[in-house]
Amino acid sequence: MASADVVLQIEGLTKIYRSLFTPAGVRAVDNLNLTVRQGETYSIVGPNGSGKTTTLKILLGLIFPTAGSASIFGKSIADLSVRERIGFLPEDAYLYDCFSGEELLDFYAGLFGYSKARRRELVDELLTLVGMQANRKVPFRECSKGMRQRIALAQALVNDPELLILDEPTSGLDPAGRHQMTLLIQEMKKRGKTILLCSHFLAEVEEVCDRVGIMYRGRLVAEGTIEELAGEPEETVVTVTDLSPETAQRLSALPAVKEVAADVVRLDHVGEKDLWQALEIIHDGGGEIVEVSRPRPSLQDIFVKAIREEVE
Ligand code: ADP
Ligand code: MG
Repeated sequence: MASADVVLQIEGLTKIYRSLFTPAGVRAVDNLNLTVRQGETYSIVGPNGSGKTTTLKILLGLIFPTAGSASIFGKSIADLSVRERIGFLPEDAYLYDCFSGEELLDFYAGLFGYSKARRRELVDELLTLVGMQANRKVPFRECSKGMRQRIALAQALVNDPELLILDEPTSGLDPAGRHQMTLLIQEMKKRGKTILLCSHFLAEVEEVCDRVGIMYRGRLVAEGTIEELAGEPEETVVTVTDLSPETAQRLSALPAVKEVAADVVRLDHVGEKDLWQALEIIHDGGGEIVEVSRPRPSLQDIFVKAIREEVE
């Protein structure tokens, strides 16, 4: 059921590419169901070839689905008026070498019919936003990949879209470039934009996303917030100093203790009682407790696990 805060709804979406060489067809997207709500940042993650770009291209009306449907802002994606409210950053955005950021943004602002004065203002705002004011006149052939990617994002923002669709926004960037792009996505989120992004860079996704869908061979194999996907922590880790051999021995005798090393004690995911018992032993033995944590698996771990379960 469509509800007021649903921005994007995908139902049973399927895309089969057929060619002379693949008469049976390549099932790039396979019965995909997905909902993105107002203000949400949703990321589709998945290995190369899992159907992420194909999904985005269908949403943008660049290719047609074999089956299924999708709606954006409650309207079918076939409705052209929807596209005015979307900003798109393609994978490997192509920018003409001889253009500068300023020229390109002014050109796009012109396409949207803004007046000359408004154009100047808008280009200024966008260049400031993406940190390209100082380099506004540098032609793209002299720009780093990170600089180009920031201009490409600015271009996607020219129409002040409510929904931003980003295909591999950090791909090909060095760590500094990836960090800058992540900060920009966070800024867009703060400004209330709904964001759908695709990525195989898991660390950044983890930082910005409200929900993640893991896609594999055209299908969504897992979906949820990072916490939901991670499930319960599996162990409790106590970081310690000054652990005497006697204390280590006493700890090893506890059923919940899995490992005792010089500066760390690992316990099965235990109840408070077991943990207190271990902490008391450490304390009594003159050990210093630095930290108690229950680490959750990283998105990378969740991703590998979900895909492994699919393969098996
Ligand atoms: P991703 O973006 O997750 O890397 P894609 O959507 O680009 O995945 O590709 C999904 C699958 O569809 C891959 O097997 C790819 O080879 C195939 N594919 C993509 N585009 C085409 C096309 N134009 N014609 C035929 N097959 C395609
Ligand atoms: Mg892709």
